[in-house]
Amino acid sequence: MGKFFDNSKKLFENALQYVTVSADVVKTLEHPKQIIQVSIPLRKLNGDLEIFTGYRVHHNDLLGPTKGGIRFFPTVDLDEVKSLAFLMTFKCAVVGIPFGGAKGGVVVDPKKLKRHEIEHLSRGYIRGIYDFIGPDVDIPAPDVYTNEMIMGWMADEYNKISRKLTPAVITGKPVALGGSLGRDDATARGAYYVLRAMIKKKKWNPKKLTVAIQGYGNAGYHLARLLHDDGYKIVGLSDSKGAIFTKKGSLDPESVMRRKREAGKLEAVYCKGTVCDIVKHDRITNEELLEADVDILVPAAIENQITKKNAGKIKAKIILEVANGPTSYEADAILAKNKQIVVPDILANAGGVTVSYFEWLQNRSGDYWSLGTVHENLEKIMITAYGAVTKIQDELKVDMRTAAYIVSVKRLVAAIEAKGTAEYFKT
Ligand code: GLU
Repeated sequence: MGKFFDNSKKLFENALQYVTVSADVVKTLEHPKQIIQVSIPLRKLNGDLEIFTGYRVHHNDLLGPTKGGIRFFPTVDLDEVKSLAFLMTFKCAVVGIPFGGAKGGVVVDPKKLKRHEIEHLSRGYIRGIYDFIGPDVDIPAPDVYTNEMIMGWMADEYNKISRKLTPAVITGKPVALGGSLGRDDATARGAYYVLRAMIKKKKWNPKKLTVAIQGYGNAGYHLARLLHDDGYKIVGLSDSKGAIFTKKGSLDPESVMRRKREAGKLEAVYCKGTVCDIVKHDRITNEELLEADVDILVPAAIENQITKKNAGKIKAKIILEVANGPTSYEADAILAKNKQIVVPDILANAGGVTVSYFEWLQNRSGDYWSLGTVHENLEKIMITAYGAVTKIQDELKVDMRTAAYIVSVKRLVAAIEAKGTAEYFKT
């Protein structure tokens, strides 16, 4: 059993003590429905042939066709893809959208490939998994180090093979190819709506709250932007190469992004050109960023960042899990004991898949929505899910992750039981 899958399973099992669940249900949810592994040949620019390994895991399709992103990352392995697919099942269930869970991954460092090599790889991946995807079967989307351009190539390859136009097979596409407005910042926006509701309920003043964000990719950047606009002080930001931290004022998310694009890393931010010295900042490590003295900590990078080693040193009152699986099972218990609020990944980052659902709906109906409609419907879904989770918390006095799992497990249990269980067939 892999480490990450084991960890994800333990977080889910923790919720089972609060719901009546038959053994059949647990067995069903602990095993992915199917796993596809493909070898993707790529002829490199210098003529060499390189073979890349790709995976697609369908975890569970009880509530609808499976859904989940594809990541291009050097450390991708089957354990990771299985765990991420598992999380997708619960994520879709907690926000109540009609999808099951899936995930895909290719073992590659896209930063080492030329743009058209990435295109060939993306198309090759679709040729490999073609028979396992479709708008009623499994619908991929972007994830770590993949983006709308890659989704556009993938959808195009699917259409070429099938000789039909089926935009609903992949979400997160460019708007010009049937993508939805508002998909680009949807993950961050979903997290933002949940956090905003929570801060309002606590009657805290955003202008007095400090935020540190680990990871400055799509989700991290957009969240920083949305929170900065509401007056939160963005005091720490990081990417894989390092972190920047300011004790005074707030970092400006837009200038940080501009600098990062120019220099290829955050560390160069504020060190040259016109934004230099706008805000005094220190360079710190990613580890130091997690332990910084802030009110809100946002892990928005990859899994397993908060572990039993550093959990006790984390000072934030709220940990908003924008990444998938950033907290280990042991760390989760430490944070709960210290009364720190963890807004769990399956709720906090569900905005992305929710707007993917809107894109799928728009592709199937041919009725395209305005940005305002996307935001309005996203907020409705996120706030309803947040309400369902806090209701369980109030009833059972459990932490937020446990409550989120209870909400989703109840929905899955209803579907599994409707098909019949051992108890049903024995009577
Ligand atoms: N990769 C995103 C996630 O982990 C989005 C998945 C989707 O849109 O299907 O939730």
